[in-house]
Formats: sequence, structure tokens, C-alpha cells
Amino acid sequence: MNEEFDVIIIGGGVVGCAIAWYLAHFDLQILLLEKELDVCSGVSKANTGIIHSRSYWTPHTLKGELHLRSLSWIEQAEKELDIEFLKTGALTMAFSRDDLEFLQTLKERGKIEGAQILAPREAHTLEPMISDKIFAAYYDPETRVASPFELNIALAESAFLNGVHFILGQEVVGFEEEKSIVGVLTENGKYLSRWVVNCAGLSSSYLAQKSGDNIPSLRPLRGEYLVLDRECRGLVHHVLYPVPVGETKGILVSPTTDGNILVGPNLEPAEDEDTSTTKEGLKEVEEGGKKLIPSLPVSQTIATFSGLRPTLPDRDFHIFFSSRFPSLLHLVGIESPGLTASFGIAEYVGDLLHKRGLKLRERSDFVIRSSFPVFRKLPWEERERLIQEDDNWGKIVCRCEEVTVAEVKHALLSSPGASTLDGLKRRVRVMMGRCQGGFCGMRLPFLMAETLGLEERRIVKSGRNSFYLGEETKEVRSGASLY
Ligand SMILES: Cc1cc2nc3c(=O)[nH]c(=O)nc-3n(C[C@H](O)[C@H](O)[C@H](O)COP(=O)(O)OP(=O)(O)OC[C@H]3O[C@@H](n4cnc5c(N)ncnc54)[C@H](O)[C@@H]3O)c2cc1C
Repeated sequence: MNEEFDVIIIGGGVVGCAIAWYLAHFDLQILLLEKELDVCSGVSKANTGIIHSRSYWTPHTLKGELHLRSLSWIEQAEKELDIEFLKTGALTMAFSRDDLEFLQTLKERGKIEGAQILAPREAHTLEPMISDKIFAAYYDPETRVASPFELNIALAESAFLNGVHFILGQEVVGFEEEKSIVGVLTENGKYLSRWVVNCAGLSSSYLAQKSGDNIPSLRPLRGEYLVLDRECRGLVHHVLYPVPVGETKGILVSPTTDGNILVGPNLEPAEDEDTSTTKEGLKEVEEGGKKLIPSLPVSQTIATFSGLRPTLPDRDFHIFFSSRFPSLLHLVGIESPGLTASFGIAEYVGDLLHKRGLKLRERSDFVIRSSFPVFRKLPWEERERLIQEDDNWGKIVCRCEEVTVAEVKHALLSSPGASTLDGLKRRVRVMMGRCQGGFCGMRLPFLMAETLGLEERRIVKSGRNSFYLGEETKEVRSGASLY
């Protein structure tokens, strides 16, 4: 590609895609480079998904400032992306008189209308399953829950719809000076841009160091989770926080946008970006969850996973221009609440680039994204109407999550579309239900291959060589239906 871009964004996580979406409101040529085969493949794919309210911002930090700034974008983002965060509210549970001070701080910090400190009886009215041992609870009506996948992908789709170019599977390996612009070097070539934004998550400090800048290496801190089956829907309605004792908000219990219950995360150092889960870690998560909900049905766990917090020693976000390349901006240490703060970060990045000379001429033709129907959530009449229109709506490929062939095909053919099984999973929830792909996992590679015009053996789970199908072990009866 010999084209010269106004802005190149490195990284297709929630932050990179939010920046792409925000800058797409202006008349700019933008390219997003992502090293994995899909967006939402880094830190953004494995977190709690909470849109933390004003009560949980951290004063005197950049992350606190951008957290607050982001909250004023929520309604606009929901409208433009055609998504809806779940307005659950939250309860922070105190177990002793000493914890009361923290609840008071949350109340004063947030100044949220309707927020209050509740006596145990009042808290139990809101959440009957919480521990009898609580001393008091802080009720905050503003906390929301997002699907981290949905948000990241909706931002990417909206950016694409508004002209942002995406090149996936393209790892940035360094930078080169090209007169007054920056040459972004990848495994396959060089891309030229007037402005470059490095938001490469866990690799952002490495890339900053590669550009000659002095920033400490990131310390990945792992957080593990349990996902409970949708059978447990209704067990809790609010996000339940403990009073934190260490470096994080603690192990929480939260409903998800899809009806599951999420328990976690703990906090432990991770070697080499290792996202495995451990017996000890999951035990700690279970105990943390049971402190809040003693009858937590852990036997209903359908999946476990872990995510990595990209942390710097001062636990703040660092957003700064490179000393060697004046138009290269680094975003390092974007840990929690990076998802909440993503809109604020995007606007802040736009302001910083603008102050250095990027012209921001607002476009009048910005296109609002429409989300694709989710069969499982539709009323019967609407389901019937769609099936009449296209019989792929009547073919269920994932029974647990009731996902149809029409939804899978759309996810594969949309832009940026799924090209891996994990990408499909994050878009339409196949393999996310109780059987975790035991059933649909055998059908999907064939459906993908057919839709994308690929050989079945080339279908990958996530990374380039993670081929899903190995050797043949059984012959499938010819003509057997896949659905
Ligand atoms: C356990 C845990 C719980 C959390 N809970 C919450 C929460 O409840 N609420 C909240 O607001 N925040 C939460 N966060 C924080 C939030 O998830 C992150 O701040 C956010 O996802 C960071 O997004 P990102 O785009 O900066 O990084 P990423 O999602 O990692 O994106 C960076 C992208 O850059 C790509 N990349 C890397 N190197 C290169 C390269 N050389 N070339 C090209 N591409 C490259 C990666 O593949 C990746 O896709 C949590 C985080 C963790 C780990």
C-alpha cells in the first residue's frame, strides 16, 4: 500500500477501535493495523465488562480524568453503535464498621442521584442472595455492564462503515523516519502516516521502547474468572463489589449482558503473557464470590478464563508523544478502567493530535451503525417473519445459545468480519453456551469453509496456525445434514 494516511492506529482492542470510531467522525484517511486475525483479541477480550460509575473513578490520575470524560459519551455511543449497556446498578458490600468509611467515600466521590448507604435489610431486599454477614452496602444506580466483545466489535464496524481501513494479521515491528512523516514497519512492508497512535495493549511499552522512548516494561497482572450457566440468571441483578483490600476492586459477582453470572477476577503476576487458569486461582475466585453470595452455585460453572492487566508501576495510564518521532503517540498502561474510559481516551487522543496540528473537520455524512438481529432475543412473530424471508433463520447451528445459520453467515461476511472460530464466538455467541462448542464446534468449521470459500482444514480457532480440524478419524456419511 503506497497510500499515505493521516492517522495509523496500532491495535484493534477496545481502545484502538474507539479511537478509530472517534476519528472517523472527521474527514481523515485512517488505517488500523492489528497483529491478530481479528479485532478484540487482546486484553479487551477477557475482562469484567463493567462500565464503572462516577463513584469508582480514581482522583488525581489520568485514568480517573478519562474515566469521567468517557461517562459523558455513553448515550451517544449507545445510539451511534446501536448497542445498549445493561444498567444494573451496583452494591458495594461492607462486612465491618471499618468498611463504612469506604462506602462513604464512594458516595461522596460519585455524588450520584439516588445513591445511598443501605442497612443490611434494605440491601437484602434488592439482592436476597447476598451474605447475612454484611454490615452495610453502598447502592449505586449508575453502574452498567457491557459485553466487551460487542462493544469492541461495534466500534470496529462503525469505524469501518465510516471509511476506516483495517488490516488484520499485520504485526507492527518498528518505526522509521520518512521526512516529516512516520514509516510504520510491519512484517510485510511499510505504511506511511502523518500521525501514528500506538495502543497495542500489552505490547505498547515494547513498541514505545522500540521507538527509542524511555518507559518501563509492562507488568502483566492476571485475573481469573468463573462463568456460570444462564440457568443462574436472576441470582444477582446488580454488580456486587466487595470493599477492596489490595490493588484492585476485588473479586466481584456480576450479571452479564447475555444472562450468565461472572465471578472474578483475582490478581496475580503472570509470566510471558500466560492466560492459563490455575486450580489455586480459581479456588480464590470461588471463595471471593462466596463471601458475597454464600450459596454461589459454582457447580454451574461452564467456563473459566483469565485476562491480563497491562500495568505500569504507578498503576496509571501514560499517554505521551514519542521524543524521537514527534507525531507518534503512545498509550501505555491502559488497564482497568480502560474499557469504561475508552470513549474518553479516544476524545483525549483526538485533542492531543489536534493541538499538534491534526486538522479535525467534522463530516456531515457520518453513518450510524445498525446491529444485526439476535434470533434468541426476538419475539416469535419476528422470528417467523425472518424465516419466511430466508430459511437460514430457521436453521439453528448452536442449540445452547440458539444461534442461526443466518447470524453466523452475517458475522463471517460483515466487515471487519470473523475469520476465526473465536471471532465467530465473540460476534454471535456460538460455542459460548453450556456445551462450550461440544455440539456446534463440529459444524461451524464446515459452515465457515462453505461461506468463506475455504478448505475446512484451513479454518483456525484464533491464531494463524491454530487449525481446528486435524486428521480424519471417522468417515461422515455423505449427504448428512450439518444442521
Ligand atoms: C482482568 C481484567 C478485568 C478488567 N475489568 C474491567 C472492567 O470491568 N471495566 C473496565 O473499564 N476495564 C476493565 N479492564 C481493563 C480493560 O479490559 C482494558 O483497559 C482494555 O481492554 C484495554 O484495551 P486496549 O485496546 O488498550 O488493549 P488490547 O485489547 O490488548 O488491544 C491491543 C491490541 O493491539 C494488538 N497488538 C499488540 N501488539 C501489536 C503489534 N506489534 N502490531 C499490531 N497490533 C498489535 C493486540 O493484538 C491487541 O488486539 C479489565 C482488564 C482485565 C485484564
